[in-house]
Amino acid sequence: MSGRLAGEAGGWFASVVAADDVKAGAGPEVRGVAGYESPYPYLDRLQPKMEERLARRVPATGRFCGFCYGRLRAEDGVCPFCGTATAERPTVAEVPQEVLRLYLVKQKTEARWVHGGAFFGLVLASALFLWMVLWGPGLLGHPALAFAVLLLGGYVLAQLFGTLIGAQVGYRKGARKRDDLWAAHLAARDGRGRQEGAG
Ligand SMILES: [Zn+2]
Repeated sequence: MSGRLAGEAGGWFASVVAADDVKAGAGPEVRGVAGYESPYPYLDRLQPKMEERLARRVPATGRFCGFCYGRLRAEDGVCPFCGTATAERPTVAEVPQEVLRLYLVKQKTEARWVHGGAFFGLVLASALFLWMVLWGPGLLGHPALAFAVLLLGGYVLAQLFGTLIGAQVGYRKGARKRDDLWAAHLAARDGRGRQEGAG
């Protein structure tokens, strides 16, 4: 009974969140990852690598692709992330700070939505608990059942709004921000003509 109740409440709120998302112009169609297809697929492949770099789990210096800043092995003549040949664009020794920052924006945006969603789920379970204890009719008002709803419902709703919904919305919003920043970076870097890159 409590599970069904939590499920119904969750379903209702999920549709509200989804409707809100449609209003924001995200569109309900599912495409790519979490309904968002990056125009720069190599950024998605680079994301976990750049997060390792941001966490300083890998050395800051090395041999990086001159186009996408993916880390290359000594023998790589073609970037495994974006396909640019090192003959075409000379490698660089470090990832620029400005570029690292756009991966951080994606990471933080996604984390904020996951945590925010989980928190919302817990608040919802707490509200449900209070309602059951204070006004729950008959068996619904039994404290033991209310506690079960608080614990189990809290877990389920935190998962639902954090790990499921929050992660999807956060991925979309974060990836969009990152991709826009990358587009701006490319325009600033290569926009004035490619004569020095091509030579
Ligand atoms: Zn590359």
